[in-house]
Amino acid sequence: RIYLDHAAAMPVDPRVLDAALPYLTEKVGNPSSLYNEGLTAKSAIEEARGRVADLINAEDTQSIIFTSGATESNNIAVRGTALRNIRTGKKIAASTIEHISVINPAKDLQKSGFAFDRIPVDAMGVVDLEALNGIVTPETAVTSVIYANNEIGTVEPIPEIAGIVHDRGRYLHVDATDAAGRIPIDVQRDGIDLLTLSGNQLGGPEGIGALYIRPGVREQPVIFGGGQERGLRSGTENLFGIVGMGEAARIAGADMQGESRRLAGIRDRLIERILTIDEAYLTGHPVKRLPHHASFRFSRIEGESIQLAMDMYGIAVATGSACTSRTLEASHVLLAIGLRHEEAHGSMIATLGRSNTMEQVPMVVDAARETVKRLRAITPL
Ligand code: PLP
Repeated sequence: RIYLDHAAAMPVDPRVLDAALPYLTEKVGNPSSLYNEGLTAKSAIEEARGRVADLINAEDTQSIIFTSGATESNNIAVRGTALRNIRTGKKIAASTIEHISVINPAKDLQKSGFAFDRIPVDAMGVVDLEALNGIVTPETAVTSVIYANNEIGTVEPIPEIAGIVHDRGRYLHVDATDAAGRIPIDVQRDGIDLLTLSGNQLGGPEGIGALYIRPGVREQPVIFGGGQERGLRSGTENLFGIVGMGEAARIAGADMQGESRRLAGIRDRLIERILTIDEAYLTGHPVKRLPHHASFRFSRIEGESIQLAMDMYGIAVATGSACTSRTLEASHVLLAIGLRHEEAHGSMIATLGRSNTMEQVPMVVDAARETVKRLRAITPL
């Protein structure tokens, strides 16, 4: 089989498993306990925190808190920041191509009287800086922009966005779920106040994530309890997940340059060849895109049928976001870049990873060409 859906789920790096597995078996202890096993657990967590901090050049290891994943990090960043800074204004802003785990907490805040402003993007998915300039005001508690979009791969001009948000003296949250470990992220250089990270997207386990909170940013918890993670994320720490995420962050930092260059070569060949298929179009930015990300749309066919047909050729691809495709609604991201509903339905996304090679490209392209031809022959569209 050829697996091309690394944005949905990634295999854990064997080195991650080696590092983390002992914390499920012989090295078990609660980091809040003062005896030896507890101290060992605590120090493993602090080492992992340091590794995650290093990956994004955070100024202080304590600026990283571990969460259950990117969804929770996004919820804390949007909801926790908005509620803690309510006195400065009841407004929040987010781009139209945010992940649903940013959009839904923002919508929920509207029930508490917050205004939720949406920042448009252009046809390639790049945030409209002029619009942003007009939308963000000193009353906007937090502005959320994705580092690079999971469906179309477009990388946003984060330093410019940060400049505009900071001009108003407000906070910028960036969802780096798909960008971290693929392109260099430096929260200090980029001007990021809050940054969401996913453990699995770095090559670590599922069920773990992190949120970077720049020292001095006023934040409040979303989950209350025993006060772990500086009181911002209570609950006994996921020791296995945290150690795994720390090791994944270390490996990502060390391997990123070479692996991203390798994957970008495969991506470029795949894009070039897929675009020779009749009425196939690239979605997202042709250049400013994630190195492992290729996304397309084919006119007059349905993404779900493409996924099923490709599966029969032994190839796993995505269509729309794995998290929303079960609703069968057109992707809000593809609508935001200006596609019509019928155009937004025929999407195919390939996200590459370690198991992928240049030799697989012709097989994928042949399967896609056959699939498109067959589906068009039977389509009522
Ligand atoms: N943010 C982005 C950009 C994503 O692509 C995803 C999921 O793939 C998430 C957040 C949510 O991640 P999780 O479901 O692991 O919490």
